Amino acid sequence: MTIIANNQDRNICQTCGTRYAGNVPEICTICADDRQYVLPTGQKWISYDEVKTGRSIRFNHLLSNLYDLRITPPFAIGQKAHLICTPGGNLLWDCIPFIDEPTVAFIKSLGGLKGIAISHPHYYSLMAVWADIFDCPIYLHEGDKQWIMDESPKIELWQGQKKVLWDGMEIIHTAGHFPGSTVLHVPGIGINGSLFVGDSLYVAVDRKFISMMYSYPNAIPLPQKAILQISDRVSPLKFDAMYGAFEWQNIENGAREMFTRSVSRYLEIFK
Ligand SMILES: [Zn+2]
Ligand SMILES: [Zn+2]
Repeated sequence: MTIIANNQDRNICQTCGTRYAGNVPEICTICADDRQYVLPTGQKWISYDEVKTGRSIRFNHLLSNLYDLRITPPFAIGQKAHLICTPGGNLLWDCIPFIDEPTVAFIKSLGGLKGIAISHPHYYSLMAVWADIFDCPIYLHEGDKQWIMDESPKIELWQGQKKVLWDGMEIIHTAGHFPGSTVLHVPGIGINGSLFVGDSLYVAVDRKFISMMYSYPNAIPLPQKAILQISDRVSPLKFDAMYGAFEWQNIENGAREMFTRSVSRYLEIFK
């Protein structure tokens, strides 16, 4: 099975893992943006053949209906994706810049993918390849249209504050980190519902608070109105668990209290 065509073209950014379908610029557009960075050693482009050498995907079975997927050894910014299995079909939340045959076979054994939803451009990675393999749509918020580097007929741009999926799942537009940043609300996972947040919300290392920033690596804060908008859109959701960008950001319970106390702390600082 051929996973990817033209796999020797150097069209994947080694720093962020984004694949470019058209012309490859001198510097990756996503890394040149002030939310990201170009390494001091300079821009490096890498082919899919080079990415795949020695790599595989590790699945963590977090709950009966939830897995996370991570590339090992790590590549790019260590993106993590989640596979959410509900009666109406499986959803991949966020995407990773690699896919291999065992991963395709495993996901197909669970019924394949009904859709891919992505929180923001730092996870666009290899989304077009994943969507082709599973013949499913990719749901992206239109606010981030300019960051699509790998155009695909599978991409479905949506507008507004939320996109309703199936089995009660909804993608919620929060903005903040990116104009089109989103979170995913899944009522059927966890005791009181779960929020999948990418880094639209960033669980702090102390696991007591949540950070909301324009750029995490470059420590660029958000203005008060952005924090208030995130609060307005997340507060009505029923959730107790939260799954973030990294392993230590999985909060099995108490996530709502973390969120509420974090918004209050921001509002204190803005006073
Ligand atoms: Zn990049
Ligand atoms: Zn990000």
